[in-house]
Amino acid sequence: MSRDWRGRELACLTPRAYPDARMPDGIRFEACRRNTCVVCAPQKILSLAHAIALSPLSQAGFITLATFDDPLEAARRLRQGANAAFRWLHREHGLTVPRATIVELSPTGRPHVHVLTRKPAVPPRLFTEACSSAGMGLSNIEAVRRPPIALSRYLYKTVLPAFGEPLVADEGDLASFLELNGNRLIGTRGAFWLDREGTVLDGSVEAMKAARRQRRRPKWGEPQEGGSS
Ligand SMILES: [Zn+2]
Repeated sequence: MSRDWRGRELACLTPRAYPDARMPDGIRFEACRRNTCVVCAPQKILSLAHAIALSPLSQAGFITLATFDDPLEAARRLRQGANAAFRWLHREHGLTVPRATIVELSPTGRPHVHVLTRKPAVPPRLFTEACSSAGMGLSNIEAVRRPPIALSRYLYKTVLPAFGEPLVADEGDLASFLELNGNRLIGTRGAFWLDREGTVLDGSVEAMKAARRQRRRPKWGEPQEGGSS
């Protein structure tokens, strides 16, 4: 079992090795953090969900788009269609909407896209118009009413529970999730990542770090469990 600089055992099966004089055998290991790693990817997804839950979600919106076509082709079209709808909103109405996009397959194999938007709020009728101009038939945008932790877990509602406890992904499940999502764990546009105070963060790596720091504080542990759907 490989150990990190604190001497803790690493669950990652493909850790990276670094020379380190502090270690008894002169080598320190670090988790690989690859999106394709069945141990690291679920941890990153959980960190991303926590990072979303930490930030203020006022004036956020939530969109789910679904089709019944061939899963991979449908996933690609859904991602592109959602982006085309937001481009239309920008072009025609000057609305720049930061957002995070995730594609999942339902247990019946039906692909659906979840998009979490930040302000400015998009009026539902305007969003419907954006979708139809992007060639997307189905559309629904709703104001966020769920607690942030439930919402951020809902973004990954199929894939997160499938990892089980402790979090380890099935290789096939993870590969299919990555394929649906263009090899990313989340797709974001605009100033989506915010800290607790609403300050814009550089990106998902910074947001995950902030979330991990926050999770070490015991006080925050209470509402996160049990409240998720
Ligand atoms: Zn790993």
